[in-house]
Amino acid sequence: MKIDMAYGSGGKQTSSLINDIFLRNFDNKILAKMEDSAVLNVSGKIAYTTDSFVVTPLFFRGGDIGKVAVCGTVNDLLMMGAMPKYLTAGFIIEEGADVDALDQIAKSMALAAAEAKVKIVAGDTKVIEGKGGIYINTSGIGEIQRSGISISKCKNNDVIILSGNLGEHHAAIMSHRMGIENTIQSDCAPLRAMVKNLLEHDIKVHCMRDVTRGGLATVLNEVASSSSCGVEINETSLPISSEVRGFCDILGLDPLYMANEGKLIAVVPKAQAEKALALIKKSKYGENAAIIGKIKEGSGVTMTTALEGSRIIDILYGEGLPRIC
Ligand code: MG
Repeated sequence: MKIDMAYGSGGKQTSSLINDIFLRNFDNKILAKMEDSAVLNVSGKIAYTTDSFVVTPLFFRGGDIGKVAVCGTVNDLLMMGAMPKYLTAGFIIEEGADVDALDQIAKSMALAAAEAKVKIVAGDTKVIEGKGGIYINTSGIGEIQRSGISISKCKNNDVIILSGNLGEHHAAIMSHRMGIENTIQSDCAPLRAMVKNLLEHDIKVHCMRDVTRGGLATVLNEVASSSSCGVEINETSLPISSEVRGFCDILGLDPLYMANEGKLIAVVPKAQAEKALALIKKSKYGENAAIIGKIKEGSGVTMTTALEGSRIIDILYGEGLPRIC
């Protein structure tokens, strides 16, 4: 069954979408009240963020737009030392979108939300003319468990840990669009357990950032600029799967600029680096984590290459891959 403009009328078909797809999949008491706003219990300082998701295709190996919409917002809260609690979800649906596809997307949002221990407590649906596209905005609230974690707080000699292999989301989306057969999966995942492990074992994390659009190169440049420091990484320590490496070699891509949706960098004091690495490696989605470099005096990002040369790593210029998330 396809969605037509009547589904956005606010009448009978709108309520069937809401009841049969959203209420059924997101299933929680706050949403079920169907009030004009959700009334929430939160304590202390909160982190609050929003993001819109326009990824195409809607379904790809390792995930779909719904999973990315939950994980993206959840991970942004976690990066500030907040434990995600509540999400809202706004859907803009083009006429012609498939009802079963929307149901599948809502299902995977529910699964990701359950893993991240968040409730989807408010939502909105609009239907517009178009060609069957689906777009999702999610906002999220998390309770700050550790305050002071910031991209501006990196210190000289801090160690940079990357939580796993680079480029997987980007390569999965590109493979799908180009019809390339491989087994590369998007790494899209909620990183709650990983962050919780770091905070509960008293790692004095100075900064965390999820490695999304613009890739590791862009994130590290943001760190260098916000913390007024230099960043040095080692090419040989960057975790990259052989399949993504092969994919990049064939297409002339640089994994440093490719997007992930389930990876973070954590910048930690040198004395705690090994402990932090072990904690990340033990966490779900962290098995390939590695220490990739350090904070130093100066400015900008440099990489010691496999051939022992030095390369300046700039931010991503140009448009990258459009509609990657
Ligand atoms: Mg982020």
